[in-house]
Amino acid sequence: MVDRARLRGPEGTPNESRSWWLREALAADSGAPCPPLMGRVQADVAIVGGGYTGLWTAFHLKQADPGADVVLLEADICGGGPSGRNGGFMYGLWEDFPVLVDLFGTEGAVRVGQASERAVDLAEDVFRKASIDIWFQRSGYLTVSTSAVFDEAIDEVRRLQSRDGFPAGLFQLLSAPEVADRCRSPQFRAGVLQTQGATVQPARLARGLRALVLDMGVRIYEGTPVDVIEGGTLVKIVTRGGEVAADQAVLGLNAWSNQIPQFRRSIIPRSSHIVLTKPAPERLQEMGWTGGEGIGDFRATVHYLRTTPDGRIAFGAGTGSSGRGVNGRMSNDPSWYQRLEATLHKWFPGFRDVGIDAVWGGPIDVGAHHVPFFGSMWGGNVHYGMGFTGGGVGPCVLGGQILSSLVLGRQDEFSSLPLVGFRSKRFPPEPLLSVGARLTLEAILRTDDAWEAGRSGNPVLEMMARLPRRFGYNLGH
Ligand SMILES: Cc1cc2nc3c(=O)[nH]c(=O)nc-3n(C[C@H](O)[C@H](O)[C@H](O)COP(=O)(O)OP(=O)(O)OC[C@H]3O[C@@H](n4cnc5c(N)ncnc54)[C@H](O)[C@@H]3O)c2cc1C
Repeated sequence: MVDRARLRGPEGTPNESRSWWLREALAADSGAPCPPLMGRVQADVAIVGGGYTGLWTAFHLKQADPGADVVLLEADICGGGPSGRNGGFMYGLWEDFPVLVDLFGTEGAVRVGQASERAVDLAEDVFRKASIDIWFQRSGYLTVSTSAVFDEAIDEVRRLQSRDGFPAGLFQLLSAPEVADRCRSPQFRAGVLQTQGATVQPARLARGLRALVLDMGVRIYEGTPVDVIEGGTLVKIVTRGGEVAADQAVLGLNAWSNQIPQFRRSIIPRSSHIVLTKPAPERLQEMGWTGGEGIGDFRATVHYLRTTPDGRIAFGAGTGSSGRGVNGRMSNDPSWYQRLEATLHKWFPGFRDVGIDAVWGGPIDVGAHHVPFFGSMWGGNVHYGMGFTGGGVGPCVLGGQILSSLVLGRQDEFSSLPLVGFRSKRFPPEPLLSVGARLTLEAILRTDDAWEAGRSGNPVLEMMARLPRRFGYNLGH
């Protein structure tokens, strides 16, 4: 049987539908043009996908082997996908320590945690040395309890801190007044500060990486959807207008990965949406939120929010709708904007008359364990990385290091991490998968809403919200 995948990438996004981040980044620097591929080319390595996974792989690869001939194929423009649309929260994988220990043992979990933390430091360093301003700000990631039910999660963090191998001082427990010192909201109670967390302007990161790898000699073809990938001694990649023959290929396809037969049951595409307010720095001053912390809550359907240098709030929800494949609603869903605006105003009444300037969304690649996984397939010369589950800004830096080592055939600290070659638990087959994902997501969402409002949830829905965990998935309650 021929190793083959037929893909359908996103069509280009019109400029007015792009995220505010990407429009800001393109206005600051539109970058050198990278026209679509026309005709046949050859390369040592072909990377499919111009998000952080593909771009960091290209970066680390060219650093390790400057002579490597690398092409990168992107359906839209680099950063046109979630890498230019996300919340910009950048942190490692320590938060997932308990599941990492379950999967890889304490020693493996510590190695993954440390490598992911070093990757964030490396990203800061790369952009500082290149004098590219990605608005990197290491102000910490504050998770707040928004009702009595969620206070229990703080006890879990307390227990996590005393676990063997977990770094001392990474999480600081904050009382309600200490949280209020950093940001006042009628909804906020006690919280936990993850001290190494940073925020970035996500699209500046993606476009900055694009500029760096172009300088290193990577040939980038934008507006180049890949239709077919076929394995073999030479990997054949057929695009709308051309074809690439490469010794090796790297797939950085995020939620679009589930079109590849091997990963159909490894990844569920799900949406996440953001609303961005108009600038109101004086309101942030009144709330005391001037330190630049990224903030999240303890819901399974997490809310995440951060400020911008000109005094806006970007307010997002980690869970929108799920689907068999990526669909247009995942990038634009008005029902989510209404929900988010209502929650934003409940949490920050001072922003009620400020107005919303931009809204957008994007797909995330939900994996069974909330932990990314990497490997090589089809005879060993096609490499993949996915499963970031809406948390790839920091881990994709490490992902690029891992994928670069796999391409170069190196046995090193990256290729030997247990994230490599690990088969993530599979989701049930269709139609159970789509129906089950939709029903449990709704149950999780309604349970979160009830708990946030201080009510106890509907027992049937709570039971459904706990089902994924019962079946061994690191999802839901
Ligand atoms: C609204 C939102 C908020 C988020 N917030 C955060 C956050 O605050 N912190 C965090 O850590 N993570 C966050 N994430 C997740 C984070 O953005 C991703 O984990 C990360 O960007 C994944 O990078 P990637 O390169 O793997 O994928 P992508 O950025 O999606 O790149 C994949 C690329 O492949 C291209 N492509 C797809 N199919 C084809 C094809 N057939 N041919 C050619 N190209 C193709 C796509 O156009 C896309 O550009 C968020 C995601 C969303 C949607």
